[in-house]
Amino acid sequence: MPDSPSPVATPATLKPGVVTGADYQTLVSACKRGNYALPAVNVTSSHTINAVLEAAAKNKSDVIIQLSNGGAQYYAGQGLPNGDTAKVLGAVAAARHVHLLAEHYGVCVVLHTDHANKKLIPWVESLLDHSEEEIKKTGKPLFSSHMLDLSEEPLDWNIDECARVLKRMAPMGMCLEIELGVTGGEEDGIGGDYDESADNSKLYTQPEDVLQAYDKLAPIGKFSVAASFGNVHGVYKPGNVKLRPEILKNSQDLISKQHNTGPNPLDLVFHGGSGSEKSQITETLGYGVFKMNIDTDTQFAFAEGLGKFYEQHANAFKYQLDPESGAPLKKYYDPRKWMREAEKGLVDRLGEAFVDLNSAGKTLAV
Ligand SMILES: [Zn+2]
Repeated sequence: MPDSPSPVATPATLKPGVVTGADYQTLVSACKRGNYALPAVNVTSSHTINAVLEAAAKNKSDVIIQLSNGGAQYYAGQGLPNGDTAKVLGAVAAARHVHLLAEHYGVCVVLHTDHANKKLIPWVESLLDHSEEEIKKTGKPLFSSHMLDLSEEPLDWNIDECARVLKRMAPMGMCLEIELGVTGGEEDGIGGDYDESADNSKLYTQPEDVLQAYDKLAPIGKFSVAASFGNVHGVYKPGNVKLRPEILKNSQDLISKQHNTGPNPLDLVFHGGSGSEKSQITETLGYGVFKMNIDTDTQFAFAEGLGKFYEQHANAFKYQLDPESGAPLKKYYDPRKWMREAEKGLVDRLGEAFVDLNSAGKTLAV
């Protein structure tokens, strides 16, 4: 008798909207199996959120929307007197915005918060309080995942603290992103200036550190690792940033060997994706990277879109009536007009990211 054909795995599908818990895992697995990653875009406003959703829909890709603490504070309003409260409320408000709209764009969205160092642990814990309340009402947490970046602390403390917080998150189906090694440069007040001439050996994550984290965290819940392979936040002169994506493979291989898992057991995150060479972005995809953070390049694209409009219609930013013709300039200074140009800049730049990360056309949403 001939062997019966091995069952062909049907591609996973998900409902459009914010994914958490098992659906989040399905999405991450699909990325790794399919050799693609999702851009994780830092947002600061309804404009930037909507532009990300629009870009994802246009390119038929799922996407990760994330808020830094500063981005969350900005979302709540710079005029809100208590900054710590604003950081929590802004993140909650942005999350609600995304929950309400994402499904209508027809793609899956991971909602995440970016770097939180030691002093921002209470920020993350306040958001967990909100997710606990949300689960009581809707059965879903507000966020899919959070990041704790305790890479400036001693390794044991970093991992113990991540374990403590993950114990709270795991029962809610939430994933924790941790950082081992140091991403160069500064992101929203976390990290230091990137010294382009310094010896950057600290910028490469040690596989033994990753193994230690895996041993402690894997039994508790789902986590991902922001691993350092020479990546930096921000965009610098070409040639000054030495990316070594093959470093990621060393960690994957060590865990795989020690725990007898299949290939690429770790869910890896590429920080500082802006300004990276396309070939090196592609190389990371083979090493289990499912998420690439992009902020600097999308910030620039947003500003550039507006800048081009301003160059053409500078008078509308000074006069209500054209000083020569007397014609009303309202149709140019209407914020919908110029903010739309900024949004379009972001949408176009993200279109490139979906192609670079091989995620265009791969949405799981049906
Ligand atoms: Zn980062």
